[in-house]
Amino acid sequence: MLWEELSWPQHRKMAEAGAAVVLPVASIEQHGPHNPVVVDTLLCTSVCRKAAEGLENVVLTPTMWAGMSLHHADYPGTLTLTLETYLAVIKELIHSIHRSGYKKVLVVNGHGGNINPVQSALVPARYDLGIEMWFVTYYQLGDQAAAQHRKSEIGGMGHSCEFETSIMLHLRPDLVNMKEAVKNLNVPRHPLMIRDMHHGGKLHRPSDFNRNRAPSGVSGDPTVADAANGERFLDACVARLREIIQALAAA
Ligand SMILES: [Zn+2]
Repeated sequence: MLWEELSWPQHRKMAEAGAAVVLPVASIEQHGPHNPVVVDTLLCTSVCRKAAEGLENVVLTPTMWAGMSLHHADYPGTLTLTLETYLAVIKELIHSIHRSGYKKVLVVNGHGGNINPVQSALVPARYDLGIEMWFVTYYQLGDQAAAQHRKSEIGGMGHSCEFETSIMLHLRPDLVNMKEAVKNLNVPRHPLMIRDMHHGGKLHRPSDFNRNRAPSGVSGDPTVADAANGERFLDACVARLREIIQALAAA
């Protein structure tokens, strides 16, 4: 069920029945010259809608499209909040869901830059409200599908990369201009740093996209993206997310 389509008495009924709420959080930020700025919001919303489709006892909120994208702010089209505002927004959305009577929330994230802020915001919310709160970043649910079907080497999946561009080619090819796609493999400065959205990251270094170091705004290899693989990646994320939603609803 979609949050925005329910009346308040229907919300009260759902909350009393112990429904789980799914809150997608994403971003509007540059995704290279070949993709529109809506990629994270579009993909995260699509995954959540498909995963929650037809499930009783599950309420899907609208996607929080503004995220923590300071590391993309050098590029036109990026709409970012500051960290302090973003933490407050996540906290206040969780509090609103709780005030509506719900006691189970799954935050589904579609943007790497949101991971640490959302996890931080959930700690005091969990402590203050005592409700069940789960968090997952959808593309990490596609790790196995990526390993099985990817064409790029490790480093080819990061930002507006093979993974995201493939799913865009499956869902909205009209928004992708493959003639503009460029390869820009991530080269970590230390072997323990993140190598790819599906590999590594024990040693952390804040993302620092900027137009001098990464003129295209791409990290990875979108040139090998294809729609058939996009469908595989999407289906894998949807199937695993659906299991998670069902587990939370049953908890
Ligand atoms: Zn993205």
